[in-house]
Amino acid sequence: MHMNVEPANFCRKPGEQNKIRKKSRHELHEYTRKAKLHRVFHKINSCYLVKFVAAMLYFCGMQILDGKTVSQAVKDALKTKVSILKEEGKKTPHLAAVLIGNNGASETYVASKVKSCEEVGFKSTLIRLDENISEDILVKTIEQLNNDADVDGILVQLPLPKQVSEEKVISLIHPDKDVDGFHPMSIGKMVQGLPTFIPATPYGILLMLEHYKIVTAGKHAVVIGRSNIVGRPISILLNRNAYPGNCTVTVCHSHTPNLKELCLQADIIVAALGKPEFLKADMVKEGTVVIDVGITRVPDTSKKSGFAIKGDVDFAQVSHKCSYITPVPGGVGLMTIAALLMNTYNACTHKHPN
Ligand code: NAD
Repeated sequence: MHMNVEPANFCRKPGEQNKIRKKSRHELHEYTRKAKLHRVFHKINSCYLVKFVAAMLYFCGMQILDGKTVSQAVKDALKTKVSILKEEGKKTPHLAAVLIGNNGASETYVASKVKSCEEVGFKSTLIRLDENISEDILVKTIEQLNNDADVDGILVQLPLPKQVSEEKVISLIHPDKDVDGFHPMSIGKMVQGLPTFIPATPYGILLMLEHYKIVTAGKHAVVIGRSNIVGRPISILLNRNAYPGNCTVTVCHSHTPNLKELCLQADIIVAALGKPEFLKADMVKEGTVVIDVGITRVPDTSKKSGFAIKGDVDFAQVSHKCSYITPVPGGVGLMTIAALLMNTYNACTHKHPN
């Protein structure tokens, strides 16, 4: 049986067929393009989004200082070192964290620190104390940890409840176990440029600058905030005669009248004031390196948690002007944990070199 198989469009007028071919090619192209776009956007879930934004900003001449990548590199290196310690029968680093009360943010930070200890093979102990704990009991807890030969590093999560003196508690931690680097002895040594524990957040910032080989010598750094845990120590470290360092540093605070004018002169800005999206594009000159330390929970009904995390920098505006920027979340916060782990490893190996 003969079957007359004709093309579907056989009855068209001459010339029309070409048009149709062209049209269908065009439609196919459009369809493929849309399908590709669809696939690209489909892939952009929360994980891909950061990389996507990073890539887009890279093409705009700006680079994200990616805390996730750098902290993972630090953790991977530590994991290897810890497995070597274990193979050689040496002591495993041990961090003891003290958490007082039920502050949501503190719970989250401590949980991440404990989880990170597990990731790299450290031992960790979490001591939970009641919000209404007396200063005496807290003092005794710290003394016990100081005397426990197995504990290498002690971390007391701040802020503390009102009835407890932060100053007293910090001073009680043995300087050899002061992995947060807040003890007056650690701070004093840091100021003098002597080997010591560097406070975790400023140390994390240094590790980040180092990883991306950012030139700091001769640059003007403006630090916004002068707290003992971030602003003041990072201002000292950026000013020291080392790398990263050798900056000329201006420290701004709540009484600085000409903050915008100073920021506009900065090659590097460290924003650590705790005011969400404080640093705007008109406060930053082209090509500035921007380090956003701020972490503030702001109400956000679109989130399951009911809040969003905001930095001190208006990322959407400022990212277009700077050369490098840390995102929030995914920037300095992750580096703080990595630095804490480094301090704990050093606390363990310096005390137990053999
Ligand atoms: P803090 O409240 O102890 O100090 C804030 C500083 O900012 C003060 O010195 C104050 O003078 C200054 N300041 C406040 N308002 C100002 C203004 N309008 N202009 C200029 N200066 C102003 O805060 P902190 O403990 O240093 O923390 C700062 C921010 O960093 C907070 O959001 C905190 O949550 C965050 N933080 C993040 C990490 C991290 O790991 N990423 C670690 C510590 C703190």
